[in-house]
Amino acid sequence: MISALTFDLDDTLWDTPPVIRRAEAVTHAWLARQWPAVARHFDVAGLAALRRQVAEEDPDRAHDLTLMRFRTYRRAAEAAGYPPEAVARGAFAVFYRERNRVELFPDVLPVLEPLARRLPLAAVSNGNADIQAVGLGHVFRLAVSAREVGRPKPDPLIWKEACRRLGVMPRTVVHVGDHPEHDVAGARAAGLRTVWLNRRGVAWSGPGCPDAEIPDLSALPAVLARWGVEPVAGSGGVAPFPPRE
Ligand SMILES: [Mg+2]
Repeated sequence: MISALTFDLDDTLWDTPPVIRRAEAVTHAWLARQWPAVARHFDVAGLAALRRQVAEEDPDRAHDLTLMRFRTYRRAAEAAGYPPEAVARGAFAVFYRERNRVELFPDVLPVLEPLARRLPLAAVSNGNADIQAVGLGHVFRLAVSAREVGRPKPDPLIWKEACRRLGVMPRTVVHVGDHPEHDVAGARAAGLRTVWLNRRGVAWSGPGCPDAEIPDLSALPAVLARWGVEPVAGSGGVAPFPPRE
């Protein structure tokens, strides 16, 4: 019996690299206007290099991407002779607003909205996206981040916490994600069933293998049906589940 699903966010529900590139460019442009010496000391690539350095200096907290960004902006402000907290707060607010401006893959809402009426869905992410801000607050019952639990995927802790908060047994939960190690190997180690979302059609590269592989989310309802999750009929103007092929 399947009692819940967990979903990865970045690169599973939207394409992340262009979002981060744009967010970093917009943040840099904001710095150039508000705190110009920071932008003169560090171009976009320079800030990225500083962020990597900051993460390497504190590997135990490198998974806390929000903290790493704050430290990066503080460090850059100090180098430029500005008040670190004011610069970091402002720059992070700009970055975070842009980071949550994502374009969902077109298969996301047609599959997740009907599914959310049948089973509780939880987001489990190593990133710091905000499910409300990205427009998914109505499909996810809850979200658990690596920052909250203190360890990033593939550590099983994030799924254990999601299952605890959902009140379900891990073996009754299906995880869907794009990353062979972070999503599939990690969720399996936590005792969940795993669905590998392979949007690029690449060869499997992880340890072990997923319980199912899908090219996009529209194939998920058929996989779940094999595991006993009956499709729900459409109602109230919401698309039927599964989507018609
Ligand atoms: Mg991902």
